[in-house]
Amino acid sequence: MSNNKEEKSTSEKLKEKLFRNRKNGCCRVSKEEIEKADRFCENYKNFLNNAKIEREAVAYAVAAAEDSGFTEYDRKKEYKAGDKVYVNNRNQAVILAVIGKKGTHDGVRLGIAHIDSPRLDLKPNPLYEADDLALFKTHYYGGLKKYQWPTIPLALHGVVALKDGSCITVNIGENTDEPCFCVTDLLPHLANEQMSKVMTKAFDGEQLNVLIGSRPFSTDKESENVKLNIMNILFEKYGIIEEDFASADLSMVPADKARDLGFDRSMIAAYGHDDKVCAYPALLAAIDTEMPESTVITVLTDREEIGSDGNTGMKSTYMIDFIEDLAKADGEEVRHIMAKSTCLSADVSAAYDPTYSSAFEANNSAYINGGTVISKYTGSGGKYSTSDASAEYMAKIRSLLDGKKVLFQIAELGKVDGGGGGTIAKFVANLNADVVDLGVAVLSMHAPMEIVSKLDVYMTYRALYEFYNA
Ligand code: MN
Ligand code: MN
Repeated sequence: MSNNKEEKSTSEKLKEKLFRNRKNGCCRVSKEEIEKADRFCENYKNFLNNAKIEREAVAYAVAAAEDSGFTEYDRKKEYKAGDKVYVNNRNQAVILAVIGKKGTHDGVRLGIAHIDSPRLDLKPNPLYEADDLALFKTHYYGGLKKYQWPTIPLALHGVVALKDGSCITVNIGENTDEPCFCVTDLLPHLANEQMSKVMTKAFDGEQLNVLIGSRPFSTDKESENVKLNIMNILFEKYGIIEEDFASADLSMVPADKARDLGFDRSMIAAYGHDDKVCAYPALLAAIDTEMPESTVITVLTDREEIGSDGNTGMKSTYMIDFIEDLAKADGEEVRHIMAKSTCLSADVSAAYDPTYSSAFEANNSAYINGGTVISKYTGSGGKYSTSDASAEYMAKIRSLLDGKKVLFQIAELGKVDGGGGGTIAKFVANLNADVVDLGVAVLSMHAPMEIVSKLDVYMTYRALYEFYNA
């Protein structure tokens, strides 16, 4: 038998040594790694289906953490290496910590992802009747393209807090035996005027009204009989009256379940990958971390999609207050701890889309199956509003991931001046810690259905785990 394997040419060899490897990630990892990724993502899909809003993500994370030995943090207690604690911030954000052998003395390792996603929130006075139909008024949450939200099945998630202090959980529309809800759209036959508008004007924020009913309560000549019927159903089902909407956090989210995408089942189509696709790997990495060198802190935060303001967002002091408690217990000052701390801001990046290639710069884009994405900086218009990770910190992270054979790629979000976006990295950097963005590349980001690669999800888990346990 002849040997058909051709000898590599000198330039080929030299290229291999000097150029960065741009081969499809699936060809750079073993078959076993891909199988592990597929298995990991079965559980991730389950998380997606059970954690569409931040409150559900917190409930899931706390239950999973308690199952693996985490207990609620008590600042008066003494903790030792290997102890696992959590802090539940108002059921909308959660901190998980694994105490390290060196405690906080050499700084802490932070992994931070967000668990809120774009959606339609109900207004405080949502219910109305118009022309014998009952509808909910909404105020959209986060940066969404309004035209994507009509004519898809929606489910209602959230809570209604009552004056007696009790709180009713609402989750309706997810199962096919439950009703769903919908924003309507105009038929093309009558849409000449709408179709001639620019996209940003074609759907007004006040047109994102959700259809919720059409039958009147009775044949009486009373007005608002359809609204009455809906309110009566809600009273019978949840015990709420119209005024109770004032003290509710209720959101309309896409009703679909997470599904495999592609004949090869290599991708997942689902609502809310941004940023559950980093939150879930971060949660699992925290759970799998047993005895780290330095204390490992995972934060699943809220409000990122609307700028991180509010007491459950990263502009709040809840994370730094917790670190200060840990530092004090070690006889340290929090500012000394932060200066030595390192962070992976685990958030998504845009995946290069060949259909919209002009929005991207091919040399600095993230690709599906390229591995977890490291973004040295985000922001827009001349690196505004971003933290730019230092060369030295980038080197540390590269070295760690290469050493552990974690597949990763370095990218920017789209082409220069094409738009831009931010993450929570800058808020952590402002606390004087080293931070860089790391996460999964997403196609159709912020759409009701987003797409990620299974391999990339798994590599993001591996990156966080190795970072925690380095
Ligand atoms: Mn995000
Ligand atoms: Mn986002």
